Amino acid sequence: MMETTPGNEIPQNSTTTNALSPWLGLQLQKIIDGIYKKYRDIDDGAVATYIPELGKANPKDFGICLATVEGQVYTAGDWDKEFTIQSMCKPFAFQLALEQHGTEKTLKHVGVEPSGEAFNSIELDPKSGRPFNPMVNAGAIAVASLIKQSPVEAGVDAFVETMGKAAGRKLRIDQSVFASETATGHRNRAIAYLLLNAGIIDEEVPQSLHQYFAQCSMLVNCKDLAMMAATLGNIGNHPVTNERVFDFQLIKHVMAVMFSCGLYDYAGNWAFEVGLPAKSGVSGGIFGVVNRQLGISVYSPKLDAQGNSVRGILACRELASHFGLHAFDFSNVGSSFMQWLL
Ligand code: GLU
Repeated sequence: MMETTPGNEIPQNSTTTNALSPWLGLQLQKIIDGIYKKYRDIDDGAVATYIPELGKANPKDFGICLATVEGQVYTAGDWDKEFTIQSMCKPFAFQLALEQHGTEKTLKHVGVEPSGEAFNSIELDPKSGRPFNPMVNAGAIAVASLIKQSPVEAGVDAFVETMGKAAGRKLRIDQSVFASETATGHRNRAIAYLLLNAGIIDEEVPQSLHQYFAQCSMLVNCKDLAMMAATLGNIGNHPVTNERVFDFQLIKHVMAVMFSCGLYDYAGNWAFEVGLPAKSGVSGGIFGVVNRQLGISVYSPKLDAQGNSVRGILACRELASHFGLHAFDFSNVGSSFMQWLL
């Protein structure tokens, strides 16, 4: 399904000048439809169940969305199916911590090194005494502690409101998933108390966890995620509303950490094969940013052994190779030059 901004207009302070023509848009739509058809019957992997509520996901769901920084949106399959954002909230929360506290203070609470450990590992970087990075749970809980507010609902509301601006529509928390995570998240509680013991977070441990669990339980669909990614890629401005959502000077830090740490234990392979700053989550979503060009997202809840969506990885690999999206591709073609490919 293809949508465009009214009149196909380029927002006034858009960062690119190369909106796709309707004909090119149709070609692009055909390619996305082809990728959807190619992978929709792949049935490998398993839906995450360690958060009981996630186990209710429909394993057949498969959606793809690509949003350009000009505001054009291309979708396939279950692109409008909602799922919780889970770990895909982490880059955005890190961006907000950098904006609210500055780089120096934020980096006193969390590092930027890949950990080589599981996302939920109960450990800190032995060299620095901080969580390794904001994409693992320890780092994300440290970040949640920085951006929480008093009362705690205010911090959650502020997060959801900003994410809504990045998505271009009002978002909300899935209260059942939030309750499920709160009831069963003992490992995250263990991590939070380790952080308290190390002086990384303050005594308001339940509040930090509330912020973290609520962020993970925010509902999005593929279009929201692709738009949020395109907002990062569009120097922090939403591609359609043109609202300034993120401080563009800090986005490079967030993308750098996504690039090196965004895909669990597959991050190195992802950088090698797909080559985009990206983040995945245990709900089965993946989003990636083609800087100054595109946001891409895929949702399919069956996960591989590394915790990444099986169909998501396949679809992203194909999107990247088809459109030359790899950051270090010899031509790094992407949407600005897609016309030469089609
Ligand atoms: N809320 C999940 C947890 O903390 C997020 C995990 C993920 O998506 O990686 O376990």
